[in-house]
Amino acid sequence: MTYRTRFAPSPTGPLHLGHAYSALLAYDRARLHGGEFLLRIEDTDTQRCKPEWETLIYEDLHWLGLEWETPVRRQSEHLEDYDRVLDQLAARGLIYPCSCTRGDIRAALSAPQEGAPLVGPDGIVYPGTCRGRDLDSRKPGDALRLNMRKAVEAIGNTSNCGFIENGPDHTGTHQLDAETLISGTGDVVLGRKEIETVSYLLAAVWDDAAQGITEVVRGVDLYEATFVQVLLQALLDLPTPTYFHHLLIRDEDGKRLAKRHDSKAIRLFRQDGASPEDIRRMVGL
Ligand code: GLU
Repeated sequence: MTYRTRFAPSPTGPLHLGHAYSALLAYDRARLHGGEFLLRIEDTDTQRCKPEWETLIYEDLHWLGLEWETPVRRQSEHLEDYDRVLDQLAARGLIYPCSCTRGDIRAALSAPQEGAPLVGPDGIVYPGTCRGRDLDSRKPGDALRLNMRKAVEAIGNTSNCGFIENGPDHTGTHQLDAETLISGTGDVVLGRKEIETVSYLLAAVWDDAAQGITEVVRGVDLYEATFVQVLLQALLDLPTPTYFHHLLIRDEDGKRLAKRHDSKAIRLFRQDGASPEDIRRMVGL
């Protein structure tokens, strides 16, 4: 099978050194394996994604010396696909509508007997307030949550499901664990159908399969999310790629770079006369 990987940024701000590292590493691994590097634009969040950021992504990556197949897959052009997947999960009774706000969730968890809220890869573990609702009770704007217990039951034996990690941390084979998924991750949000938003958890799984990705290269901050994504692959009968979660580029204070770290934007290094080789050196490649 030909090696295929991708870089999948969301156009919500300028790419910074952390993105440069991720993209260059994926590109280098594709070359190393005589395979392909693809670019995918993850632009389902219509509030935060802007065309000017997308244009800048293409400019920055070309400047870094990367090449990719066009047209590029843009998630905003595939919303019906994600909708169909949600319908499929709904037909199997695996998702339910949820109208809880963050405040509702915090309030439900602040009952004295609850202790500190548990935080999973998708944020605070949902206390299950809406779990009993059926889909007919769905109101505009409701989130659609995966019933994790039912999802785990639907795939049968979780120990048959797992993935191979090729990155520097957690290297090796990992199996899903039913109890960790149910109590440590909980009922993650997969979409909000009426307003056509899908969670990146689901969209990325669908797209990785659609694009024939054999290895996902991305930051180690998404390592925990991989367990949910592998579960979704099993539920949807999609192949599981291998994963390479790389270490994160940090700022001077040791904090991971975020989009607001404009000072580390590739665009600014370009304007200051840095070369692509300088960027490679800065990120340790
Ligand atoms: N779009 C995600 C991000 O920009 C990346 C998701 C992935 O690589 O699977 O963080």
